[in-house]
Amino acid sequence: MPVAGDPRRAIPRTDVLMDEPGFRAAIDRLGPARVKAAIVQAQQRARAGEIPPESVRGHALAALPTRATSLRPVINATGVVIHTNIGRAPLSPAAVEALVIAAGYVDVELDLASGQRSRRGRGVLDALLSAVVPAEAALVVNNGAAALVLATTALAAGREVVVSRGEMVEIGDGFRLPDLIASTGARLREVGTTNRTHLDDYRAAIGPETGCLLKIHPSNFRIEGFTSGVEIAQLAGLGVPVIADIGSGLLGPDPALPDEPDATTTLRQGAALVTASGDKLLGGPQAGIVLGAAPFVERLRRHPLARALRVDKLTLAALEATLTGPEPPVTRMRHLRPEDLRGRTWKLAEAVGGEIVESAGRVGGGGAPGVALSGYAVALPSRVAELLRRGEPAVLARVDAGRCLVDLRCVPTADDDALRDAILAALTTTGDAG
Ligand SMILES: *Cc1c(COP(=O)(O)O)cnc(C)c1O
Repeated sequence: MPVAGDPRRAIPRTDVLMDEPGFRAAIDRLGPARVKAAIVQAQQRARAGEIPPESVRGHALAALPTRATSLRPVINATGVVIHTNIGRAPLSPAAVEALVIAAGYVDVELDLASGQRSRRGRGVLDALLSAVVPAEAALVVNNGAAALVLATTALAAGREVVVSRGEMVEIGDGFRLPDLIASTGARLREVGTTNRTHLDDYRAAIGPETGCLLKIHPSNFRIEGFTSGVEIAQLAGLGVPVIADIGSGLLGPDPALPDEPDATTTLRQGAALVTASGDKLLGGPQAGIVLGAAPFVERLRRHPLARALRVDKLTLAALEATLTGPEPPVTRMRHLRPEDLRGRTWKLAEAVGGEIVESAGRVGGGGAPGVALSGYAVALPSRVAELLRRGEPAVLARVDAGRCLVDLRCVPTADDDALRDAILAALTTTGDAG
């Protein structure tokens, strides 16, 4: 207990501080728990004699989080457009605006004209159907994996899913699609070999137990050499529904990505259902998209599991805005040509004194592994990378062959000055400035 004359008696009390205007404003923004935690921490430091009692107020205010989330924005200087560890696709301003609207009460399941309950997510479903003409119906679930689980469950639970051995892929972080499918209660019937699978392999496997054929796009790797696979158009002739997991979410063909399947072409070739992610090449929020023939989509929609995989109103709103609004950032960044990046890169190199090198960006997110997005990078000493990552703002660069490469492909132009200042600060720390 502090005694009279003890400087610790001068430490302002928690309830007094919490009632002051500066802290009250912080409570409105951050909630009482985080504000109280900052105050208590400053008081403890004063009790320990680390700071004088009269500076408790200032220390507590300075320690308050500046953001409402512990997630920190990151400047993506890697040149990898869809970077899984930093949240895949950044949303377009239109999608962000939609998120803000959807954050309140919205008519997500209500027809305001009649006052009756309405179909959830009709806006996004209409947008998908206009973007993918051969699709008769669409469904949106939580992510690409959920779309695949729902499709195989609805079409083949307790029965067989026929898949080529060349398509038994792991999608990252130890998740393997065969395990995912087995978890639905469907039995995997593997056909062919790693490098070659023929139409007859599928034909021989089909029988009364067959629920569906599954064609998985092996997004993150390529098998080269003596290979052969079977086209969807041929599989579609075998009289069993074909599910095609295209992975990336391209709705139509993109000449820049000739090896990436798209939903429109895949359905035209005869797939009954296409499943894809919303936050890879489509450039929207995390979501899983199912497109295809109406009776099959309806089976998925009515399956009890569909309710457990349902997306929230935020996702519906952001996905709709991505589909109907301007070109999403991932598409714009993917299509940037070296000459589009020259001016900004030269300016940055001049300001920070780095060397300009040619840089091959990547699509990322497991998509188009063979495609190099040519551009430039500013090369810096490799130890700068860690300082940039730990700095404010946090900057993620690419470390390659002992150098820290800063690629502007995925950096919004508005962040150019902040990036330059972050690099200058890091170089000063390492003594490499000048
Ligand atoms: C990424 C991917 C998935 C998983 O999609 P998520 O949206 O990450 O759940 C499934 N299949 C393929 C082929 C993929 O590329």
